[in-house]
Amino acid sequence: MRCKRVREDLAVRILSESWHGPLDAASAEHLDGCAACAAERRQLRDTRALLSRVPLQAFDALEAAVPEPAAPRKAREP
Ligand SMILES: [Zn+2]
Repeated sequence: MRCKRVREDLAVRILSESWHGPLDAASAEHLDGCAACAAERRQLRDTRALLSRVPLQAFDALEAAVPEPAAPRKAREP
């Protein structure tokens, strides 16, 4: 349970590049002792570094290439 909570917190903090203060003490202590979560932190940091190298125009092109979600289907007439 602690792993799940720590990883969600890391993902939000690292990928959004927002900083809401340091991890709480229990999470920081967990990271020191949990190799799996420490590895997850490294991967998230790598992912953020890769994303930061993508020019913003690439995201515009991607958005333009993705079709709008289909309108919700109307119930069939009886
Ligand atoms: Zn963990």
